[in-house]
Amino acid sequence: MSSALLETSLSSNGHAVHLDTETLIVGAGFSGLGMAISLKRAGIESFIVVERAADVGGTWRDNQYPGCACDIPSVLYSFSFARNPKWTRSYPQQQEIWEYLRFVTDKFGVREHIRFGTEIVDLRWDEDTATWHTQLKGGGTIVSRFVVVGLGPLSKPSFPSIPGIEKFQGPHWHTAQWRHDVDLTGKRVAVIGTGASAVQMVPQIAPKAAKLYVFQRTPSWILPKPDGPIHPVVKWLRNFKPLAWIERKFVYWLFEARALGFTVNPNLLKLMESTALKHLAKQIPDPALRARLTPSYRMGCKRVTPSSDYYPAFNLPQVELVTDGVAEIREGSIVDGRGVEREVDVILFASGFRTTDGLTPLTVHGRGGREMNEAWRDGMAAYYGISVAGFPNFFQLLGPNTALGHNSVVLMAEAQVRHVMRVLEQLRALGARSIDVRQDVQDAQNRRLQRKMRGTVWSTGCKSWYLDKNGKNTTLWPWFTFDYFRNVERVDLKNYIVIGPANPPAPVQARSARGVA
Ligand SMILES: Cc1cc2nc3c(=O)[nH]c(=O)nc-3n(C[C@H](O)[C@H](O)[C@H](O)COP(=O)(O)OP(=O)(O)OC[C@H]3O[C@@H](n4cnc5c(N)ncnc54)[C@H](O)[C@@H]3O)c2cc1C
Repeated sequence: MSSALLETSLSSNGHAVHLDTETLIVGAGFSGLGMAISLKRAGIESFIVVERAADVGGTWRDNQYPGCACDIPSVLYSFSFARNPKWTRSYPQQQEIWEYLRFVTDKFGVREHIRFGTEIVDLRWDEDTATWHTQLKGGGTIVSRFVVVGLGPLSKPSFPSIPGIEKFQGPHWHTAQWRHDVDLTGKRVAVIGTGASAVQMVPQIAPKAAKLYVFQRTPSWILPKPDGPIHPVVKWLRNFKPLAWIERKFVYWLFEARALGFTVNPNLLKLMESTALKHLAKQIPDPALRARLTPSYRMGCKRVTPSSDYYPAFNLPQVELVTDGVAEIREGSIVDGRGVEREVDVILFASGFRTTDGLTPLTVHGRGGREMNEAWRDGMAAYYGISVAGFPNFFQLLGPNTALGHNSVVLMAEAQVRHVMRVLEQLRALGARSIDVRQDVQDAQNRRLQRKMRGTVWSTGCKSWYLDKNGKNTTLWPWFTFDYFRNVERVDLKNYIVIGPANPPAPVQARSARGVA
């Protein structure tokens, strides 16, 4: 692409602003890397990726707790255009996914575009020059035409508000901020929370700890995890692209079928519930303990977690399940809701992530200075999770209502990247300077979405991180993934306010990087 066309952007009165790049991408996890790779594959070089950490990987760089792994089979947890025949396990572990992301970063040559250790704190749209001005922490600004953010749906650790939490004197940390310098061997350890991270971590730390207290508010639904090393013959067969494609499609449809229960008829999940209850009965012989580990809400309402080694950990003499809540944390102990005090050396917060507080602490000012978190005061909402009315040329990856409870979110991120690529192509072909989704179009799509949400398993009455403070589900996509792909496949310009032309149009792309599930 000709850089001459990118150097400046002209305002309506001829005032020129220097452009640092055409597209600024924020975040170097699956989403940001997917966007960067797609631009690169389309022959576009004018982009910068900013990443606050020192390496790529996002989720899979940050979550280093023992046992951290994916709940989705490895064949589906990669880019469709960069399958990984080298996966060693049916369900990939954190280290291997991180390695995969480093590998694709180098394979597609995007590392040279990444500025590590660079955190963005504020973005401002300048209507006059149709540019975004992005403020960096510690100083400096990047000016670009487009901004694509892949900040991560699960990247802000959440801590419970427990009286006295600040008084605890021993080491304590969140599962997403693992401390490798503290050895848990022989320690009295408390785990607070029993969601997906705890289910993976507890079996790993239980044999080491002198005492392990697992504080459970609500039990998770747990299905057996058919994990294990991949047979060398299967690995070899995966080198044949058509066979690898068939396997990926097969696993995709297997997992997609779960959406029938989650989004069409939650009663269908009773079948999966009976499998989970048999799994529990087989692994926990004590009926009283089994009762305390049995969920009382419909399966799927909270994230379902597969594990074949979580329940057996509770049969170890040093492991105790505590179901009386946490009333107070003291200097060296935790007091439960019945007043029982347990002395502990280390507290591990497996308390999940802040998922519904918008882009905070980042601030994004769109048309007329309107701030996005303010616009989302009553709940996050975007047009198919990607565009927000009043914020031209700004795109989100894995934004509101595009996470999944039943399949790999990498599929969603890829579909969004393809959508953004098409928007950029169309703008370039028209020579237009900005594109902004119409408010009425965004509102109508979100009304349809929230109507559909009422019939899903996530609306059957449990409390989960999928819901915001008003009880509204602003995180999940409530249909099948193929519905989503179909909806974002085309860019219908009548749904947008397109302004232009301004600067001379840059050459039309070679092609967009298309992928398939
Ligand atoms: C423990 C765990 C297990 C999971 N398991 C699964 C699973 O089994 N299946 C599944 O589909 N999904 C799973 N997920 C969800 C997972 O987050 C996504 O699959 C995917 O990795 C998200 O990629 P991302 O690039 O969108 O976000 P992330 O991987 O979170 O990357 C976001 C990046 O943005 C950077 N960033 C954020 N803010 C700024 C800023 N202001 N300035 C600069 N950089 C910034 C972060 O440092 C980070 O590198 C899991 C998540 C967790 C935490």
